[in-house]
Amino acid sequence: MGNTTNAPREMAAAGTSNDMSPGDEAPPGTPGTGENICPTCSGSGASPDGGECPTCSGTGKVVEAIGGA
Ligand SMILES: [Zn+2]
Repeated sequence: MGNTTNAPREMAAAGTSNDMSPGDEAPPGTPGTGENICPTCSGSGASPDGGECPTCSGTGKVVEAIGGA
């Protein structure tokens, strides 16, 4: 179709100015969230196959929503 408006905007969001890991629920510093030990690697940051933990990107921590209820 002829819809070309704003086309490049979505592409810029792919892993640039954002420190979120795949396991994060929110960017660091977001109100109502906090760091938690990564449930996948138990905070070691290592994947069982010897690589970086895919959930926390090797940090051993993930950002999760807290105090929801
Ligand atoms: Zn992890």
